[in-house]
Amino acid sequence: MSYSGFRILREALRGHRGWRPLWRDPEPQSEYDIIIVGGGGHGLATAYYLAKVFGQARVAVLEKGWLGSGNIGRNTTIIRSNYLLPGNQPFYEFSMKLWEGLEQDFNLNAMVSQRGVLNLYHSDGQRDAYRRRGNAMILSGADAELLDRDQVRAMYPFLNFDNARFPIRGGLLQRRGGTARHDGVAWGYARGADRRGVDIIQNCEVTGFVIENGVCRGVETSRGTIRARKTGVAVAGSTGRVMAKAGMRLPIESFVLQAFVTEGLKPCLDGVITFGAGHFYVSQSDKGGLVFGGDLDAYNSYAQRGNLPVMEDVAEGGMALMPMIGRARLLRSWGGIMDMSMDGSPIIDRTPVEGLYLNAGWCYGGFKATPASGYCFAHLLAKDAPHETATAFRLDRFETGHVIDEKGVGAQPNLH
Ligand SMILES: Cc1cc2nc3c(=O)[nH]c(=O)nc-3n(C[C@H](O)[C@H](O)[C@H](O)COP(=O)(O)OP(=O)(O)OC[C@H]3O[C@@H](n4cnc5c(N)ncnc54)[C@H](O)[C@@H]3O)c2cc1C
Repeated sequence: MSYSGFRILREALRGHRGWRPLWRDPEPQSEYDIIIVGGGGHGLATAYYLAKVFGQARVAVLEKGWLGSGNIGRNTTIIRSNYLLPGNQPFYEFSMKLWEGLEQDFNLNAMVSQRGVLNLYHSDGQRDAYRRRGNAMILSGADAELLDRDQVRAMYPFLNFDNARFPIRGGLLQRRGGTARHDGVAWGYARGADRRGVDIIQNCEVTGFVIENGVCRGVETSRGTIRARKTGVAVAGSTGRVMAKAGMRLPIESFVLQAFVTEGLKPCLDGVITFGAGHFYVSQSDKGGLVFGGDLDAYNSYAQRGNLPVMEDVAEGGMALMPMIGRARLLRSWGGIMDMSMDGSPIIDRTPVEGLYLNAGWCYGGFKATPASGYCFAHLLAKDAPHETATAFRLDRFETGHVIDEKGVGAQPNLH
């Protein structure tokens, strides 16, 4: 079933009786060519591109809960490609280009909205760092503009420009950045994969790996053993726990990240803004709520909920940046588990166990990476070679010293 204006009209005239579920609910088969563990954004995108681009038909996605129950349905929906380092920037720009054609590609309205992402700067040093970042972005084909204070004021006059400690001096703007409806992204990839024959199996927890003579031959699940030639793991915040079942200890720690949304307000913020002197970022959803977040809760956890001190810290950041936010009432907050790597950059690689592949370490920036992550992981699984934009995301870089420390903070996973 394809979606179109004509289809909506037709269904309206027929009492909307023709709509069908977006994907099937198949029983797991005993064997597949490729199994993807984790039905989040990255797992579903991987299955989609495996089927669509790399011609793999016998693929299954195994999800322990329901689609969208993890971070893909919990993030603050920001997409951008404003990275600095050569290991990262081309990959995120590749992702941005995939976002730009995504809805036509998988024929579902994921509300991709290139409303602009503005990173504020508050000092001369920070301006120079943003200038360098903007130049790196332009070199990889992305867009970047350095704005001065008056240009930012013309866009967002309500910001606290004269904050005594952190006056706003300007910002780095990526106009092609923006937001996308996160659950729509999961649904679009799921539907697109399902239509190409991928089995999406929900309520199927992977409890172990079938490893014979050092080769991964499939997985043990809550619904029985399923064998496969190749197994790709994309379980985000659960990476440490799942890969431990294959005997691996990874350079990843799990932390909680919270997000917040206010009651619906009239349109007042048409882009995404990040505060440069603290950790706070905000956008306004199409329903009118201000969606914002900040720092991680500062302890390791697998619980999908956070605590009050970080809530207070985020609220302080919001008040420092745009005092009018204090008038809005908070409607909801929630948390997700972040797979924080030691250098803040991801891993898309083979593992020491033959037949077992890993997609992880997305920290709190993995939503924007969803299309490229899926594409590059599918490339690796299908061809056993990394995609050209993901060659630096090696698992062994922490041994060899080829880390991609985007923020330059060292092995401090909670600071990336
Ligand atoms: C509050 C918050 C705000 C964020 N904001 C942004 C943002 O604005 N921009 C951005 O780019 N990124 C953001 N992120 C990060 C982004 O959401 C994640 O990096 C990304 O979604 C992770 O990939 P995923 O979608 O595949 O993860 P998930 O959706 O978590 O998918 C992993 C799946 O694996 C499943 N799983 C786990 N264990 C097993 C098992 N044993 N067997 C089977 N299945 C299993 C889980 O149930 C889950 O569905 C944010 C995250 C949070 C929590």
